[in-house]
Amino acid sequence: MKFKTKDVETRFTDMADLAQRIAKEMDLYSQEKYGIQLTLTTTVSTKAEDTELSRTSDTHRTRRAFDIRTGDLPDELVAELCSVFRKKYGRFGAVTSALPSLIVYRPHGTGPHLHVQLSRKYALTEINYDK
Ligand SMILES: [Zn+2]
Repeated sequence: MKFKTKDVETRFTDMADLAQRIAKEMDLYSQEKYGIQLTLTTTVSTKAEDTELSRTSDTHRTRRAFDIRTGDLPDELVAELCSVFRKKYGRFGAVTSALPSLIVYRPHGTGPHLHVQLSRKYALTEINYDK
């Protein structure tokens, strides 16, 4: 697994255990089937960072979401990650508009990515990383 920045890597282990496990399994799947390491672009965020990026959801701040860069991945791999992991872990996903949505494809923003988010049940206390 690769990380966009050192901060993204350092904060990986601050995520809920289940989020870490899903990220590792998705990376293993990609490596074994496609020989590709996934790149995580966001793990845990802070309130200040969310405000700066106009993030409306608190899923990163509450340590239950991560983002996977998809711009450099084959379309088939992105589609498989969605179908395989929704099937296996979908029941743990965040619930939006009454529908469980473990994996959300976001083509916009800082670059196309998969936003993987767990239910609020797995939310953890926010961390203030300010130095
Ligand atoms: Zn995200």
